[in-house]
Amino acid sequence: MGEEHKIKVQSLTRFYILMLLKSEKKITGYSIIKRLEKDLGTTASPTYVYDFLKQLKAEGYIKDIPTPKSKRAQGFRLTPEGSEFTDRIFLRFNNLIEVAIQSKLKICASCGVKLYDDYYSEVIEGKEYNFCCKHCAKAYKIDK
Ligand SMILES: [Zn+2]
Repeated sequence: MGEEHKIKVQSLTRFYILMLLKSEKKITGYSIIKRLEKDLGTTASPTYVYDFLKQLKAEGYIKDIPTPKSKRAQGFRLTPEGSEFTDRIFLRFNNLIEVAIQSKLKICASCGVKLYDDYYSEVIEGKEYNFCCKHCAKAYKIDK
């Protein structure tokens, strides 16, 4: 209960760390830092990454994978609870991204398809309509 309040995921770095944990069967703190650099072009401080991993571990969201021969841990993996936690975070981010896109979104007046940069506009009876293509514009005029 209320575990979402304990760990805040308000930065892309944290979000990406969760994504890496989710997509890899096991991952080390070191490779997380490398991936952040390579994929996001951000230099995350090891302290920041390890602090976050420590928090996740304290909540039981990740656990160490022991290495048989060495004392150093081989990496971490998500626990089932951690997996649920990341799913909730991803869902929340998804919703945010949807909202961000939809606020700028245009839809074809004829077929309802989402329009991004490349679409066709036509003024019909003094009002401008957006369409995905000329065929949709034509179909729309016939339907009217
Ligand atoms: Zn269309």
